[in-house]
Amino acid sequence: MSAAADTIHDTQQTAEHVDVLIVGAGISGIDAAYYLQQECPDKSFVLLETQESFGGTWHTHKFPGIRSDSDLFTFGYKWKPWTGVPIASAEAILDYLNEVLDEQDIRRHIRYRHEVKRATWSDQEKLWTLEVRRGDTDETVRFTCNFLWMCQGYYRHSEGYTPDFPGMDRFQGPIVHPQTWPDDLDYKDKKVVVIGSGATAATLIPAMAKDAEHVTMLQRSPTYFFARPNSHEVADMLRELDIPDEWTHEIVRQKILLDQKIITQRSFEDADALKQELIAGARLYLGTEFDVDKHFTPSYRPWRQRLAVVPDGDLFQAINAGKASVVTDQIETFTEKGILVTSGDELEADIIVTATGFNLSALGDIEFVINDKPLNFADCWGHRGILFTGVPNMAWVFGYLRTSWTMRADLVSEFVCRLLKHMDAKGAKVVTPQLRESDKDMPALPFIQDDNFNAGYLVRKMHIMPKQGDREPWIFSQDYYTEKDQIPNTDLEDGTLNYR
Ligand SMILES: Cc1cc2nc3c(=O)[nH]c(=O)nc-3n(C[C@H](O)[C@H](O)[C@H](O)COP(=O)(O)OP(=O)(O)OC[C@H]3O[C@@H](n4cnc5c(N)ncnc54)[C@H](O)[C@@H]3O)c2cc1C
Repeated sequence: MSAAADTIHDTQQTAEHVDVLIVGAGISGIDAAYYLQQECPDKSFVLLETQESFGGTWHTHKFPGIRSDSDLFTFGYKWKPWTGVPIASAEAILDYLNEVLDEQDIRRHIRYRHEVKRATWSDQEKLWTLEVRRGDTDETVRFTCNFLWMCQGYYRHSEGYTPDFPGMDRFQGPIVHPQTWPDDLDYKDKKVVVIGSGATAATLIPAMAKDAEHVTMLQRSPTYFFARPNSHEVADMLRELDIPDEWTHEIVRQKILLDQKIITQRSFEDADALKQELIAGARLYLGTEFDVDKHFTPSYRPWRQRLAVVPDGDLFQAINAGKASVVTDQIETFTEKGILVTSGDELEADIIVTATGFNLSALGDIEFVINDKPLNFADCWGHRGILFTGVPNMAWVFGYLRTSWTMRADLVSEFVCRLLKHMDAKGAKVVTPQLRESDKDMPALPFIQDDNFNAGYLVRKMHIMPKQGDREPWIFSQDYYTEKDQIPNTDLEDGTLNYR
């Protein structure tokens, strides 16, 4: 592959060529760029990003109080120390990424307002050709690349998921989804109903309760909340001792990972006791008068959906202050003045917020064509959930759902760079995963197994995702603790990767 970006001419249009093309300038895309520069400094690359700025999730979401729900020692990169409090605002995360872009000289590689619409692979040319819509000029431009690195996340950024609730058109006030929050939404002294009970609802409610007259959390079923101070005692101690930030970052990461490993193990082996501890945590904040059994006692095993961290118990504090309340019920219909629930109560609202999740999107809503045939991604088998059978020279970063996403982004980035170097050493231009004879009888399992993690957005759209198998390297365990050794030690010559 060439050292610098050059230009390939064809009969229709000039296309800009790079060795590696990264789709998305969120936390994964920036990570990919960092590793490429470190590990494969001879490769030319660009990042194409639909939006007008970097940060992905942290740029898209602008709702009140927006913050991480996992700690930044593990959600931050392993190679860039986090120096703030564990649970961070979107603003602090964007500041951190902004520093990375400068420190690592990545900014010049990003093309904003470049939305990839179509990706076509040609065996003959051994290249991907991308059709890209420029948001600023509305033109379609073309790029070609040898390797396509998909860092487009896992959900559609342009719109969130709102179920079709009965009577929505009757409601007289605004209905807002957190993913597309209007800049001018005035909720001061207003009654707000937030539908949902996930991390987004838990973030929004205390933030809005400061100014709103009252915020009601309307949930169909409860979620586990894990209230804890927004500080880490090991980090605080090491910082007090003036230990270098790099050391503090690594030590606290390892401590958090160990603690989470224990929780994850207990969620499988000692689920009842863990459940009781989590519920006792809520009870401690809310007192004995509050009906914790009804509102904060989920029916599922802990960790089967993400554990929502409530820093400093702020959700519970808003409830205690009478500024927020919880209703656990089903929606019968929206009305002119609010929401009628199955029990017969009408919840009055000036504004309704649908914190009902997002739309899972497999490949950035890009139309993929392989040698003139449309790709059905659901037909592919995931090779460690990174590469896909029948799709040459393409990797996708799908992070962890329980452990911080970035822990996997780092592992995938190292893997892709190792693969690129291996290909160069072999003189191979193309790598495509393929089933071995001995793999052909594998059962086709869902990309994320329901008994492992069953968030609603996954269950709704699992049919668009690739398959996983029951043996290495076709398993996608979503388990950091096994993958941290497996991914770096992947045998690149085990017969599951076809090189040409
Ligand atoms: C509100 C919220 C809070 C979250 N908090 C956490 C957390 O605390 N911890 C955690 O581990 N995970 C969290 N997540 C999950 C989160 O999405 C990931 O952790 C992480 O931010 C994903 O990073 P990413 O770069 O892979 O993808 P994204 O952040 O989704 O970024 C992808 C980028 O690709 C761009 N893109 C997509 N398609 C195209 C295309 N066709 N052409 C060009 N560009 C394209 C998008 O515009 C976007 O900028 C949260 C998710 C949400 C919605």
